[in-house]
Amino acid sequence: MGFLAQESSRVKTATLTENDFQLPLLGTADLHGPVGLDAHGLEPRGTVRWNYETPELQQHAIRRGEGDLSAHGVFTSRTGARTGRSPKDKFTVRDEVSEDTIWWGKINQPCKPELFEKMLGHAQWFLSHREEIFVQDLFCGADAAHRISLRVVTESAWHAAFARTMMIRPTAAELATHEPEYTVLHTPYLLADPDTVDGLDSNAFILLSLKHKLVLIGGTQYAGEIKKSLFSIMNYLLPATGQLPMHCSCNTTGGNTAVFFGLSGTGKTTLSADPNRRLVGDDEHGWTDHGIFNFEGGCYAKLINLREEDEPAIYATTRMPGTIMENVILGTDGTPDFTDDSLTANTRAAYPIEYIENREPSGTAGHPQNIVFLTCDAFGVLPPIARLTPEQAAYHFISGYTAKVAGTEMNIDKPTATFSTCFGAPFMPRHPGVYAKLLTEKIAGHHSQCWLLNTGWIAGGAGQSDRIKIKWTRALLNAALEGQLADVEYQTDPRFGFQIPQTCPDVPREILNPRNTWEDPAAYDHQADQLAEMFRENFQQFAENTPAPIRNASPEAMSSTST
Ligand code: ATP
Ligand code: MN
Repeated sequence: MGFLAQESSRVKTATLTENDFQLPLLGTADLHGPVGLDAHGLEPRGTVRWNYETPELQQHAIRRGEGDLSAHGVFTSRTGARTGRSPKDKFTVRDEVSEDTIWWGKINQPCKPELFEKMLGHAQWFLSHREEIFVQDLFCGADAAHRISLRVVTESAWHAAFARTMMIRPTAAELATHEPEYTVLHTPYLLADPDTVDGLDSNAFILLSLKHKLVLIGGTQYAGEIKKSLFSIMNYLLPATGQLPMHCSCNTTGGNTAVFFGLSGTGKTTLSADPNRRLVGDDEHGWTDHGIFNFEGGCYAKLINLREEDEPAIYATTRMPGTIMENVILGTDGTPDFTDDSLTANTRAAYPIEYIENREPSGTAGHPQNIVFLTCDAFGVLPPIARLTPEQAAYHFISGYTAKVAGTEMNIDKPTATFSTCFGAPFMPRHPGVYAKLLTEKIAGHHSQCWLLNTGWIAGGAGQSDRIKIKWTRALLNAALEGQLADVEYQTDPRFGFQIPQTCPDVPREILNPRNTWEDPAAYDHQADQLAEMFRENFQQFAENTPAPIRNASPEAMSSTST
């Protein structure tokens, strides 16, 4: 099969062939297992395109006018108004299954079964009446013992390609017996009317029914919503059998494994793609009695200000057909401009993990020797790296501090301090104590060393200096993972209690203690006291149910006049 790419006005390249996609074809088009679409209440009037592979999906996406091809033949979409997740529009159905297992609140918002039934009816009618729909049967979880089988039904070819790229792709043989346990009905162009639908606040809706094992996503074209709702399901399921789901990336040398927890924009994807270590996965993993496994089969990298010299492996994927770029601006010759944030700062590329040269093909790794908490501190207070005791690790895991950087959620444009428990509160259906207990046990059981890495600012904080150079962050990280920081001199931070190395190969000594990087040390002290207070205030909600040694790992302001 070869096809013309010229329907995209920008593209000068003549023909793309399957070989350009660099992922062997599995031959799954039109194959599927025994479960039909009637199982989801669908009666399609139009064409159903089952399990098409990326080259074909890309061809259909171009034909349907869903996006453009870049000069390198990379499909580039625009998501319209919503260029990030819509956490306020996400609800979990409150029923006998979820009632006692979900940590209800502002993050896990409940909705009534009636609302779900109503929107399900709309989605079923809508999908049944499209001229064509796309179905993808996939897996989530590289470890066969813990994976779920899933189906995504969508009206949009590029979203089908996104789901396929991000999840684990079954072989033709696996498809023959594939029965979806969880299903996503995806209707990005079906807008809800919040004036007539009781319980919705906008025209977007992300509704999860654990009882029906069904997710409805509508009114938003942001593709990340698909992968993060599947993540929420895994985060619900795994603790029930004593496994820990984690919002983290992971890489390994084979014998030496590291996981990197962190909220959006803190560097999970950037730092895990390291030429000297095999990438296991960039965002979602489970920790079982056998080690680590990736949930996904693809990566979802931020592209804003991407530079080849800083992130060569990720940069390379933006020139490989089969990658899907979101909200990236193309020049008149079709070349992507990664500095252009006119649609959003949350520009993205989804690519199959096979597009990263140094990767671990099994999607699994051993128990981690090192656990790194990434935080992007906008205040310039936290050191570029600090060593944590297990109690401090638990404290920071429960706190989940970072500063949000522009764009992944709607309406956030400037850095703001935020605490998000387990470094991923929006995706954690259960009480944080459930995840914290599992992490604490696993750290103790496997003697993992924990680190806090500030990938944000020092020297006066955001606005006063540039973000810490990626090459320094990488040097600190590699030194920690390779044991080069085991025996250097350390200082204990007077407020936070963690240990700060005083030397590190390839990193200027002056930047290791942030207080020395501020023009005015008194201003640093003031800001550091304020941050310590913010930690304390945030932790109050967890204090009562947290064991004393972890509670006592709290930072403390040094001056009583700081607040
Ligand atoms: P998400 O959960 O949204 O996928 P993430 O944790 O994977 O977020 P990345 O995609 O790795 O975040 O984004 C980190 C961003 O910060 C990148 O755009 C990277 O170029 C930039 N950056 C700047 N300085 C640093 C640094 N010192 N360390 C890591 N990343 C940095
Ligand atoms: Mn990421």
